[in-house]
Amino acid sequence: MKRFGSIYPFILFLFLGILVSACDFSVDSYKRSVEIKNKYVGEIVFENGVAATRESDIFNLALPDPELFLFSESDRVIKTLYYRNDSLVPSVKTIRLLLKDFGEGSDIIASKHNDYESTSRTIEYNTRWVAYSFEKKDTAYLKAETKGVLCHELTHVFQLRPKGIGNYYSNKVYWAYVEGMADAVRCLNGYFTESDRKKGGNYADGYRYTGFFFAWLTLNKDADFLRKINRSSLHVVPWSFDGAIKYALGDQYNIDMLWLEYLSDKGDITPEMAKKLENNIRYAQ
Ligand SMILES: [Zn+2]
Repeated sequence: MKRFGSIYPFILFLFLGILVSACDFSVDSYKRSVEIKNKYVGEIVFENGVAATRESDIFNLALPDPELFLFSESDRVIKTLYYRNDSLVPSVKTIRLLLKDFGEGSDIIASKHNDYESTSRTIEYNTRWVAYSFEKKDTAYLKAETKGVLCHELTHVFQLRPKGIGNYYSNKVYWAYVEGMADAVRCLNGYFTESDRKKGGNYADGYRYTGFFFAWLTLNKDADFLRKINRSSLHVVPWSFDGAIKYALGDQYNIDMLWLEYLSDKGDITPEMAKKLENNIRYAQ
């Protein structure tokens, strides 16, 4: 998507005032911090807990300057989720990226912490995923995957959370919405290709199922769709997919109908099948 022009990184530097750059080196790990003059992010900390490993070298190949990437990507994520100068954007004192080994058998790629405790956020990145991303020695894939994962995690840092439906762990709709938004932002910022899209499924299946659907709605129904859906978190209480769709696009829209239109447009179902299913939905209403 061409939403963000190539001059953006240059504008970024105008706002980037690196005040302090501190390093704390040891043999096996190191920590660097960059304090930044920015409206929404105060400081970026990169902590490498596996400095003397092959995975660390691979990560460095993917992202030679993680601090700058996190800063510029935060801005892109904010622009994808919010209107310009939106007062709803949360300010984050510190974004900390920790590269570490999650241990044998872990299937976690990355995770974000400190949600409710403070204005600081930690993103932990699993070195096992770093190694897996470079299994085929495809440097371009490695870079896109690493940046894509961080874009997804940064969305969690800045997105608004739904109200009135429990929490991430207690409610599947909450979970699907939060993870779907993160993949939608990743998709709209160019870190997924069409081949990454999951076929079929349901809009409430989370991650790429929800994410590609939200991206499609942004590209086909309303360029501000994602910003409006993010804002629906505060206005649609209790939050629901259908309520949020109506908030974003209007009361004439129905989530099940839009989902069929999406599947049909993508070729996951035939137009005949879409028609039949649409009639079922109308009959059930
Ligand atoms: Zn996530």
